[in-house]
Amino acid sequence: MKKFVYNFSEGSQSMNDLLGGKGCGLCEMTRIGLPVPPGFIITTEVCDAYYKFGKKYPKGLEDEVSKYLSALEKEMGKKLGDKIDPLLVSVRSGAAVSMPGMMDTILNLGLTDESIMGLISKTKNERFGLDCYRRFIQMFSEIAMGIEHNEFERIIADSKKIRGIKLDYELSEVELKDVISKYKELYKTKTGEEFPQSANKQLWIAISSVFGSWNNDRAVSYRRLYNIVGLKGTAVTVQAMVFGNTGDNSATGVAFTRNPSTGENKFYGEFLPNAQGEDVVAGIRDPMPIHVLEEIQPEAYKLLLNIREKLEAHYKDMQDIEFTIQEGRLYMLQTRSGKRTAHAAIRAAVEMVGEKLIDERTAIMRIDPAQLDQILHKTIDPNSKKSAKLLGKGLPASPGAAVGQIVFTAEDAKQWKEKGMKVVLVRRETSPEDIEGMNAAAGILTATGGMTSHAAVVARGMGKCCVAGCGALYIKDEKAKTAGCEIGGVSLKEGDWISLDGAEGEVFAGQLPTVEPEVSGNFGTFMEWAGRFKRLKIKANADIPRDALVAKKFGAEGIGLCRTEHMFFDAARILPMRKMILADNLEDRKKYLEELLPFQKEDFKGLFKIMDGLPCVIRLLDPPLHEFLPHEEGQQQELAEQMKVPLEKIKETVAALHEFNPMLGFRGCRLGVKYPEINHMQCRAIFLAALERIAEGGNPMPYIEVPLVGHVKELRLVRELVDDALKVTGAAGKVNFKFGTMIEVPRGALTADELARESDFFSFGTNDLTQMTCGFSRDDVAKFIKYYLEKGIYQKDPFISIDQAGVGFLMQICVEKARRTKEHIEIGICGEHGGDPESVEFCHRIGLDDVSCSPFRVPIAKLAAAQAAIVGEVKVRKKSH
Ligand code: PEP
Ligand code: MG
Repeated sequence: MKKFVYNFSEGSQSMNDLLGGKGCGLCEMTRIGLPVPPGFIITTEVCDAYYKFGKKYPKGLEDEVSKYLSALEKEMGKKLGDKIDPLLVSVRSGAAVSMPGMMDTILNLGLTDESIMGLISKTKNERFGLDCYRRFIQMFSEIAMGIEHNEFERIIADSKKIRGIKLDYELSEVELKDVISKYKELYKTKTGEEFPQSANKQLWIAISSVFGSWNNDRAVSYRRLYNIVGLKGTAVTVQAMVFGNTGDNSATGVAFTRNPSTGENKFYGEFLPNAQGEDVVAGIRDPMPIHVLEEIQPEAYKLLLNIREKLEAHYKDMQDIEFTIQEGRLYMLQTRSGKRTAHAAIRAAVEMVGEKLIDERTAIMRIDPAQLDQILHKTIDPNSKKSAKLLGKGLPASPGAAVGQIVFTAEDAKQWKEKGMKVVLVRRETSPEDIEGMNAAAGILTATGGMTSHAAVVARGMGKCCVAGCGALYIKDEKAKTAGCEIGGVSLKEGDWISLDGAEGEVFAGQLPTVEPEVSGNFGTFMEWAGRFKRLKIKANADIPRDALVAKKFGAEGIGLCRTEHMFFDAARILPMRKMILADNLEDRKKYLEELLPFQKEDFKGLFKIMDGLPCVIRLLDPPLHEFLPHEEGQQQELAEQMKVPLEKIKETVAALHEFNPMLGFRGCRLGVKYPEINHMQCRAIFLAALERIAEGGNPMPYIEVPLVGHVKELRLVRELVDDALKVTGAAGKVNFKFGTMIEVPRGALTADELARESDFFSFGTNDLTQMTCGFSRDDVAKFIKYYLEKGIYQKDPFISIDQAGVGFLMQICVEKARRTKEHIEIGICGEHGGDPESVEFCHRIGLDDVSCSPFRVPIAKLAAAQAAIVGEVKVRKKSH
């Protein structure tokens, strides 16, 4: 018979899928002898079955839970719901992948009007017993019955107001009794029933509610956001309660074995005396830094330090732990791999290699390439801070910079972002409901809460700048139309600009300039390791020398795509370009092309200089010509005056160039079929630039690339122009260049053998290849792709991550055909997918030579390529055994 329940001694680390991360952590800590209160875990398979059978449990579950509960009662010497010595349990969620705060947890379960008497008489602590009961009623009602949090908060706030006190734990026994009876009344009003007085009934309601939370809105949107797929569901952990709220010699806390913000190898955490776990995470009371515990509870602190070391040695990774101290005795409630900023991840990985805890391969595999994005983004320009107005300081919860307009609700953050605005979400504190708004914001600022508050944890996971617990921030009417705030005495309203420095926890008025990051220190070391393991070459898509410089700084091994059209939009160049397009005859067109030639040549020279000795793939003109002409009447009028031509002529040309499907229209190499002189000018500019660089002692390596080729004869036509340009510039025999094509048209991919004969290299333009293979217009797909994703038709947007079964298969066919014709043809990719880690892994697997992506994504692609190579090595090793 299938086993549904495991106690903490029966499970181990390898059972993560079945027992969930939290359950496994408890088993593992039990196994290595750490002080863990006993309990049992109902598996994720039960959750799966629960949903499959229409929210019914598989047969035999109830008996098995009963058996494990009896064993737990025996071990603890207490009984659930007992009126003399009651066992209290926590009922917690925990899936195989951690989803912090997204699913439900109920603490202090087992309290009833009867059992509370037992708890009080056993502990001789009435205040504590009553505090547990009121917490339990509130949590149970909110979580299992969906009664609003605010309704309970109002009751307790009223009670505190009457007494003139600020903190929950200052409430006396009499007041707590009053709160409890009001809570129970509220429960009855909302549910039509008395608060359940059977502990067993409470347990099963709680179990169902945890399973139910697997599919609550916030858990579903979290999974969507982080692309968490293929899990069976959540496990449910039932564990004997230990209490951090029995008095001043009790406490509860969360800690990281290293600093999760910087990665420094220093114990880092927070705790609250006389409190239960949710008080720390909710950010209601300000927690104390962990080192203060040494003064208050030296023994427990010493043990905690010892456990910190044991856990790191065991998991060989930074851990995020939860603990409770009950009357001086320390208990571990959770351990899991700690979420950390990219800075922290890199520093910890590099230092752990130094400490011989892990090897370089493990360090490389440990960092999520997408997370590097955080490091590669800007910070506030330190020089600008000197004259800026510092409004206030909070905790440096998540590094980076955010410059945006203030909004006060998650909903507004989403809506403003959709309108293309940059916002900073300003809240008293955030909660899991805010997750999508937080994702939409450039940064997050909160008034309360510590480094482990919801805002801080989620922002770090998202790699978003966050300043938390900013005491100088006061928000009024957060959710109302009249919402506004004061920071450091300055009144601000919705739409006002502020700038955050997440690394320093600073809040500034206005829009401050930002600076780009550097590749140095631990990051430099780490990237150097990645460079050693990868096979793919990583190039950058860069059109102008400034981008090429950034790319070089991040370690690009050449330019994989220079979109030459971007060079024409500069103020000095757009006029001759427009004149060329409006020219009625070849002679005029050539005249204006000659005006453009020196600009192109200088740009190419600049690229060759920066990328000296490295390949520079220069793509001949690609977009439809109408993109270079103004479409608004006012601008057309201006152009007419500038060019001294009638407005009508401009309008006629724009109308003549109009296409129903411009992305499938007169663009790419098709332009060259009608206007070969354009390509000819570009090729001459390339060769002349190369010759000048050679004269300067440089080593230019131009790769001339033809876009949108679907037929080998298109390629041959351009080749003739290239050969002629070579001759007329005198570059023949002097300039070392390569000639090749983009693979963007399915017909091109399918006739790769023919194209390969004419090419030294291919580069997959997977933006267009996806458009034409899936039949999704690049320009219109945004309108409907989200429905495809919601319905799971595509797991990921195929314009972001290669559709491996379709577009990817076509790429494979292309690579095989091309290599059969020309074994050593260089093949790369330069569509947006070149910076997507999963796509990079795919490119490695199908044997491409290089990937090219935007300059800021170069390290991401490099790391993804290193990981692909390491995974590939392991597979080869496994096969040969
Ligand atoms: C592509 O199509 O993938 C590509 C790189 O070209 P563009 O995006 O400029 O069309
Ligand atoms: Mg393209």
